[in-house]
Amino acid sequence: MVKRVYNFYAGPATLPFSVIEKASKNVLEFNNLGISILEISHRAIEFDKVIKEAQKDIKEIMNLDDNYHVLFLQGGASLQFHMIPLNLMLESKPALYVNTGAWSKKAIKESKIIDENNTKVVASSEDKNFTYIPKEIPCDSSASYLHITTNNTIYGTEYHFFPDTGDVPLVADMSSDILNRNLDFKKFALIYAGAQKNLGPAGTTLVIIRDDLVKRTENKKLPTLLNYKTHVEKDSLFNTPSVFAVYVVHLVLKWIKDEMGGLKNVEKLNRKKAELLYSTIDDMSDFYRGTAEKDSRSLMNVTFRLPSEELEKRFVEKAAERDLIGLKGHRSVGGIRASIYNAFPYEGVEKLVEFMRDFRKNS
Ligand SMILES: *Cc1c(COP(=O)(O)O)cnc(C)c1O
Repeated sequence: MVKRVYNFYAGPATLPFSVIEKASKNVLEFNNLGISILEISHRAIEFDKVIKEAQKDIKEIMNLDDNYHVLFLQGGASLQFHMIPLNLMLESKPALYVNTGAWSKKAIKESKIIDENNTKVVASSEDKNFTYIPKEIPCDSSASYLHITTNNTIYGTEYHFFPDTGDVPLVADMSSDILNRNLDFKKFALIYAGAQKNLGPAGTTLVIIRDDLVKRTENKKLPTLLNYKTHVEKDSLFNTPSVFAVYVVHLVLKWIKDEMGGLKNVEKLNRKKAELLYSTIDDMSDFYRGTAEKDSRSLMNVTFRLPSEELEKRFVEKAAERDLIGLKGHRSVGGIRASIYNAFPYEGVEKLVEFMRDFRKNS
């Protein structure tokens, strides 16, 4: 037996234990081939099957048609901050951004590197320290695209509505809430997510791109590896992908389909976990204070404060003694952050809530 603690880290993050068990067997020997998944060629027919199945499962789970391409790239979500404006920005058609926190800011910075004058921030929640998602998001019909960050990992806010952008492509960084609920994914022209929060281990980045956007690269002279067209044409096998990470993502997708029974059930469980935690915070509002505005609260990263930084420090230490680890807020904002991604078990939230009651009583 393996000892498991409750892992509240924001990323890399907790994975379904059944996935870890399967992966560990295949680290020893993959599919009775006499070699490990760590040793297999990315050109081997068995790996081809893995990546193709993952692409198919993504489309099935998200209900996307064949006009979308599913890519597994490297460089993290952070490289997408640059690849998106590099590939998709059109001359004198502004790239629009909503600034909802640190990750949005990094995306905006990269767009400004491509063309400062053609990058426009159309809405922001910086006036209230990123505690909410702006309600009014103007979208100029002549824009190249509109970029949003659907879940703000550091500030604990999440979109619960999406702007209507008409014909303007909607581009979304879903790194920390990908596949956490059932959405109309066809609303989006490009979705990207580093795998390490809700999809698998670190090392691969999911990019889902609609076909018409790939065509925008045709008149551009781009570095080969930074051109979406390269990866679409070679089906994510232009160069060696992160074989093991893609393999584990493929297992997580099977887990969503077969063990969880699809996105609707994933969403139900995520809502149940978040409700238990937020209602506990609100019930003890003399001691715990949620940092995000109620209608913008994240299902994935629950952020809150205690009466003092000293108490927060003790809270994190005492929680760890009960096998509740990774509760320290991001270093840029402080406080407490409980990341409760898809694979985080309900019992772990119950344990945290019990601890929160005890801690308040004893403080
Ligand atoms: C973690 C995170 C990123 C950065 O991802 P990398 O894969 O480390 O580049 C970007 N956006 C959001 C919303 C994140 O949570």
